[in-house]
Amino acid sequence: MSHATISGNPLVATYEAIEQFEASLRGNLITPAHPDYDDVRALYNGMIDKRPALIARCLDVADVIAAVDFARATEIPLAIRGGGHHGAGLSSVDNGLMLDLSLMKGIRVDPIARTVRVEAGCLQSEVDHATHAFGLATPTGTVGSTGVAGLTLGGGVGHLSRKHGLTVDNLLAADVVLADGSLVTATADEHPDLFWALRGGGGNFGVVTSFLFRLHHVDTIIGGPMLWPLDQAQEVMRWYRTFIATAPEDINGFFAFLTIPPVPLFPESLHLQKVCGVVWCHTGSKEDADEILAPIRAQLPPLVDGVQPMPFPALQSAFDALVPAGLQWYWKADFVRELTDEAIAKHIEHAQKLPPFQSTVHLYPINGAVHRTGSSETAFSYRDVTWAEVIVGIDADPAKAGEITRWAKEYWEAVHPYSAGGAYVNMMMEEGQERIRASYRDNYERLTQIKRQYDPANLFRINQNIAPAS
Ligand SMILES: Cc1cc2nc3c(=O)[nH]c(=O)nc-3n(C[C@H](O)[C@H](O)[C@H](O)COP(=O)(O)OP(=O)(O)OC[C@H]3O[C@@H](n4cnc5c(N)ncnc54)[C@H](O)[C@@H]3O)c2cc1C
Repeated sequence: MSHATISGNPLVATYEAIEQFEASLRGNLITPAHPDYDDVRALYNGMIDKRPALIARCLDVADVIAAVDFARATEIPLAIRGGGHHGAGLSSVDNGLMLDLSLMKGIRVDPIARTVRVEAGCLQSEVDHATHAFGLATPTGTVGSTGVAGLTLGGGVGHLSRKHGLTVDNLLAADVVLADGSLVTATADEHPDLFWALRGGGGNFGVVTSFLFRLHHVDTIIGGPMLWPLDQAQEVMRWYRTFIATAPEDINGFFAFLTIPPVPLFPESLHLQKVCGVVWCHTGSKEDADEILAPIRAQLPPLVDGVQPMPFPALQSAFDALVPAGLQWYWKADFVRELTDEAIAKHIEHAQKLPPFQSTVHLYPINGAVHRTGSSETAFSYRDVTWAEVIVGIDADPAKAGEITRWAKEYWEAVHPYSAGGAYVNMMMEEGQERIRASYRDNYERLTQIKRQYDPANLFRINQNIAPAS
């Protein structure tokens, strides 16, 4: 039998098998010869350049089953792509099959039951658009172009975390194509182990084709950034660490180091100034927000105070233009329980070297409603901390890749000793098994058991991989 050879790399599959696979799809099968190949394979992180042998552009569950069956039968490495935002590009694979879900865009809001059914190719901004029409929202992240699938499977941290929990805390059901090609629905009652593992365990257990989320009344919020000069960072951080520990759950605020972008939104005199800030999202009234924020406004009047009423999706997409797809991107993360004075000093030392102008550091609150679910109730383990911290080197210029990577690594080395140990898996590069294990802590063993049950051959391994228990 002849074997297909693409870009000089032999595929295990025969031409015949590939032709049969293509014929079974409603969507397209794209090879390197296809004119759209480079556009379709492109990942969010411009630093990562992978060349899959085949890209299956799935349109429905039947296509997903066909792709999983093909990968299992041919043993071709399989990567699953939702929104393509993974920092390490773990939604693609050299010389393998990319199972591309990005065309599966169905969204159905049920305003009576207050749920939304989301297909696996949807981006955060698309879901916000659909639910906002009903004055409803489900918690997701902070950048509209992020894929809901990958974000959810890792946990989902964002503007509504303190009020309504992680994205996984609002997941009611998931349709999943398993490694054997069967489709199951995972809920708290059906396949409860699988449902537990999907809530933080990433794409290790199957291809999720759609998610059912709980919705909340979130319509106009009081949100936006408050920024202070970097030389006030120590005072701001000391105030913030105490404030966020006991603040009402209506308010979320993530701390950031950033450079003021050179855009007309900001006075020219502030362009490219390094600052620290908090990005607020208050889901109650403006009067309540003003009362809560009055002490900091009086104590440390901000350089920029952009906090104002706005539709929730406006805040959700406020930073999209700053971080378009294709930039160089390198990040390191940790969970943080306490921000000690020494840790603050290290942060400020390295924030002063923040590479201009998109690089940033965020501390996302992991408290409020997130703490109401126990650490072993979902695969997402680190619920007993205060922040998910991420240090992100970003630059449009590929020549700066080394510089932003070095800065992020040096910063992380300096603050890691003050961390809780593991990191949010959705904000890690490929950092090895020990780091993955540390991020799941006591939940790791159970995850390996569930992996053995649902994917004993580790078909789904292009991810922050949890190997099946032996
Ligand atoms: C600009 C930016 C902002 C971000 N902001 C936030 C934030 O505020 N909060 C937050 O929590 N995270 C945030 N993230 C991290 C984000 O959650 C992860 O990058 C996540 O992996 C993105 O999901 P995706 O579907 O776009 O990624 P992809 O790269 O498509 O997939 C990521 C991983 O999930 C797997 N996967 C994807 N879809 C499926 C599926 N349907 N079934 C099974 N496995 C699947 C993939 O195989 C891959 O391993 C941000 C990322 C970026 C780049």
